[in-house]
Amino acid sequence: MKFDRLLSPIKIGGLELKNRMVMAPMVTNYCTREGFVTQRVKDYYEERAKGGVALIIVEAGSISYPFGLTTAKQIGLYDDRQISGLKELVEVIHKHGCKVAFQLHHAGHRSTRNITGHQPVSASEIQTKGRWSQWIGGEPPRALTTSEAEELVEAYASGAARAKAAGADAVEIHGGHGYLILNFLSPLYNKRTDKYGGGVEGRTRFAREIVQLIKQKVGRDFPVICRISAEESVEGGLVLEEAKVICSILEKAGVDAFDVTSGSHDRYQEVVPPADFAPGWRVYMAEGIKQVVGVPVMAVGRIQSPELAEDILREGKADLIGLGRALLCDPEFPSKLAQGKADEIRQCIACNQGCIDRLRVFDLEGNGLLTCLYNPMVGHEREFALKPAEVKKRVVVIGGGAAGMEAAVIAAERGHEVTLFEKENVLGGQIRVAVIPPHKDEVSNVTRYLESQMAKLGVKVELGRAATPEVVAQLKPDVVILAAGGIPIVPAIPGVNRGNVVTAWDVLSGKETGNRVVVVGGGMVGCETADFLAEQGKKVTVVEMLPAIAQDMEFVRRGMLLDRFAEYPVEVKTNAEIREIVADGVITGDGEKITADTVVLALGVIASRELELPLSRKSWALYCVGDCDTPGNIMTGVHRAFHLARQL
Ligand SMILES: Cc1cc2nc3c(=O)[nH]c(=O)nc-3n(C[C@H](O)[C@H](O)[C@H](O)COP(=O)(O)OP(=O)(O)OC[C@H]3O[C@@H](n4cnc5c(N)ncnc54)[C@H](O)[C@@H]3O)c2cc1C
Repeated sequence: MKFDRLLSPIKIGGLELKNRMVMAPMVTNYCTREGFVTQRVKDYYEERAKGGVALIIVEAGSISYPFGLTTAKQIGLYDDRQISGLKELVEVIHKHGCKVAFQLHHAGHRSTRNITGHQPVSASEIQTKGRWSQWIGGEPPRALTTSEAEELVEAYASGAARAKAAGADAVEIHGGHGYLILNFLSPLYNKRTDKYGGGVEGRTRFAREIVQLIKQKVGRDFPVICRISAEESVEGGLVLEEAKVICSILEKAGVDAFDVTSGSHDRYQEVVPPADFAPGWRVYMAEGIKQVVGVPVMAVGRIQSPELAEDILREGKADLIGLGRALLCDPEFPSKLAQGKADEIRQCIACNQGCIDRLRVFDLEGNGLLTCLYNPMVGHEREFALKPAEVKKRVVVIGGGAAGMEAAVIAAERGHEVTLFEKENVLGGQIRVAVIPPHKDEVSNVTRYLESQMAKLGVKVELGRAATPEVVAQLKPDVVILAAGGIPIVPAIPGVNRGNVVTAWDVLSGKETGNRVVVVGGGMVGCETADFLAEQGKKVTVVEMLPAIAQDMEFVRRGMLLDRFAEYPVEVKTNAEIREIVADGVITGDGEKITADTVVLALGVIASRELELPLSRKSWALYCVGDCDTPGNIMTGVHRAFHLARQL
């Protein structure tokens, strides 16, 4: 496929962009507590600029300290002392022919007391609802007074002036995701009776005044982009038809482009949509806004494949494509397209494990740094930069799962001679079963990418060959990396050897179950297996000894899974242990019988380390990675393998 549209130039106002790919703003938590730019921030953005994207919209920049903060170490645009750092950031991005916009942000009712030390503020005193508001604390906001709102209009414009003073090419105002501007635009959350409330004219006044004051302060030709949640996705909230009216009004006020997103804290899954959403599911919103405005419109969210991005532009649904997680995963996405290497792009799998799930644990110490499941370089572009090996070594990797393949790729990239043994006839290891439950198929991108990298880098892959100490010795390796994964735990419960007992891996590999199923173990694997079976109409009960299920799952996907469980319904019994498996079900610790045709065990993985001892008696250096080292997940395995191989 040719990517002519994606690679064609476009203008936002007078600002010329070399192609249609824009880095969407994503909070990193990489700054200092005082909002100053750090070396980490510069390296992270420079890497993306180098990768060929036309415009970087730098993550949420706070215009108001401390009330407006959303994370502890957010970038600041609220103090003139921050300008010199912002300038250095602009310079490293400009060096690569990439333009920069700073995003002007105030968290509104999404700020939290643990970050700001204060009660959140909003348009009105209306608390967000639902599961996600518990995450942010769920504290009811205080309504801003009219004069406070006016001061904040000034603060946004001052933020824009600082951005311009730092050499930025544009700014974006954040009117999405439950943040302050959306609080004002929302018919649900704005019940004000002053000039900032009422009908659509009143609710847009805050945003209009911001745009107009920015233009007044920094000049009409300084582009202002507006990010908007076109669907707030909560009953009584903003919907696309009204968002169209709002965008027309804001265009007249001076907005030069729209960045169309959706969701709020009431429906957080739409803010960072996981793979449960179809690729490009939100594009219809950008298309709707494009029907009513004359300025460029950007589609964003679950656009991970270049083919989809090109189609969106070709079909006239949007003018620009926002790439968020896609550029975390592969900063070179644009340049690979330009060089005709689209098939080499490391495509995001929308797992959310490294990005939003990591940010969720932010705190005042700044924990919760952004990363990526299979790009461990994110946020460490300088210190983890791969260096050619000083001494070329012969490396043998045992196991072609995620961890083994990553170790092989990184070792080969650094110049080592690598042979990988996989006892099965295909690569992937557990990923082959991990892709089976609902909405998991994109996880196979991990295997596809690593397999193609091994081929490109000349890793010798021995498929269908179980490595033994003798086989390994024949290759006279300097280093052996044991990445043999793990196998399901089968505990010594009475009745565990009955014919009605299978493992989750068996079920996901195609073994049939009866119609009534008990899944023993409510971690991610058990719950995803229950999801898989319940989707087929089976009556499923999950039994878990802990007080909650799926606690090892990424939080957005977990929330969506729990919603599906409520809908099927899947019955969940927590704080419950299995005492015995009988012919027609299980008996729990307190004597309850749960009737079932099939009992599915999902009790974790035990490391396959039987080769460790015989291999350790040899002359080579021996390392263990992935589940074989410590049972975990793809991210822990890949990251550990990466760190080992980058230092070999
Ligand atoms: C249903 C399910 C869903 C999951 N979902 C997710 C998820 O969404 N996100 C996530 O991060 N993690 C997920 N996981 C966990 C994740 O898949 C594993 O943690 C990860 O894939 C382990 O990778 P690994 O390379 O360490 O081991 P494995 O994938 O187990 O690979 C080990 C490989 O070594 C091979 N091998 C063993 N012995 C030898 C030998 N002697 N010679 C040659 N080859 C050998 C095996 O055949 C296997 O291919 C899921 C797991 C399951 C079961």
